[in-house]
Amino acid sequence: MTGVGAVSFDPFRPPMIGAATWQTVLSGAGWRCECTGRCGKPHRKTEGRCGTVHGAAHRLAAVPADPTVTLTAAVTTAALVALCAGCETATRRAAINAQTAIDPDQLDLFGDQAA
Ligand SMILES: [Zn+2]
Ligand SMILES: [Zn+2]
Repeated sequence: MTGVGAVSFDPFRPPMIGAATWQTVLSGAGWRCECTGRCGKPHRKTEGRCGTVHGAAHRLAAVPADPTVTLTAAVTTAALVALCAGCETATRRAAINAQTAIDPDQLDLFGDQAA
């Protein structure tokens, strides 16, 4: 009996962090998505912060504050934020776009040279 895998929570992703860490991040966030526009949405209706609250309909995950680092690295540096699925996906996509945008060498990989 290890007990480690017997976690009682199920965020929308396979939890690679401990339940205690997840709970610390989520409770610190007030069980509400911490996105304040990083996903690209202004969240104006909810005062600049995503209004998604953790619950049955929406599950929040503890993800790296910097979407370009791995979750493992984020855990060891304690830079985690609570995000809902929509914001997490959009944030990651935005980060990838930003990375490719600032790296001119990447453009060549897409063969985007107009003839
Ligand atoms: Zn959100
Ligand atoms: Zn958002």
